[in-house]
Amino acid sequence: MRVLLTVLLSFSFLFAAPFRIVTTFYPLQIMAINVANDIPSVSVENLTPPMTGCLHDFSLTPKQLQSLSRASVLVVNGLGMESFMDKVIHRYPKLPIIVLTKGLLVLSSNGQSNPHVWMSVPLAKQMVVQLSKELSAIDPLHGESYRQNALRYEGKLQSLDAWMKSELLPYKGTSIMTFHEALPHFAYEYGFNIVGVVQQEPGSEPSAKEIVTLRKRIVEKRVRVVLTEPQFSDKIAGMIVRGSTAKLAMLDVGVTGPVKDSAYLDMMRANVASILSVLKP
Ligand SMILES: [Zn+2]
Repeated sequence: MRVLLTVLLSFSFLFAAPFRIVTTFYPLQIMAINVANDIPSVSVENLTPPMTGCLHDFSLTPKQLQSLSRASVLVVNGLGMESFMDKVIHRYPKLPIIVLTKGLLVLSSNGQSNPHVWMSVPLAKQMVVQLSKELSAIDPLHGESYRQNALRYEGKLQSLDAWMKSELLPYKGTSIMTFHEALPHFAYEYGFNIVGVVQQEPGSEPSAKEIVTLRKRIVEKRVRVVLTEPQFSDKIAGMIVRGSTAKLAMLDVGVTGPVKDSAYLDMMRANVASILSVLKP
């Protein structure tokens, strides 16, 4: 009997139905790739195409809706990042949804919880914990593998965070300006003081008048770095720092990039190097 059971169990493992993890956007995809690493019959698919950027004004195409209908589970950021899902999610009443920011203490900007939580490494680590916990509950067959993978990745995130804090500690309290509202969690965690945001509304560019105000603010608040993002215009960034001692540094908020397990770690290391390149005497 026991032999038969073992045979049956290994059989069911071999022919396990594919388990499809669908993430809404890039930072979650990288987390899921790490947690579902090399598990047979488990796949990770990202709903939004690369180069979408932050999802603030995204809407789904028919092809993406199709991918959603094949999903075993949907992994979302939450905190309003996926407002484009509101219109379609009722079509999938049986689809389990994992909200990675559930239960996290997050910062607010403009009176709303700021959704760019993954830019703080300790918070990103908590999102990974949440992902592994909920995946194991929904797909217990692979529970042990999710937990093992997640533990390994959490260790890497912990070392990354410790390294970032030791590198950035000498610059604690430095005033910075950022391009969109993507960095409060990053700034809070690593000791920067955000004194201005260039683009208040997603997709909008500052007017000539707003640029003048931003330039004044840079001088008044002794801003040392204006953090630009790969998705934003270099021309406007250049106009904003002209006539001041503030320098521009590129900071990737990790909404697009290569699809590989080390992508988030690589991005954060590059971000620290970019900031240090303008702060170090
Ligand atoms: Zn954003």
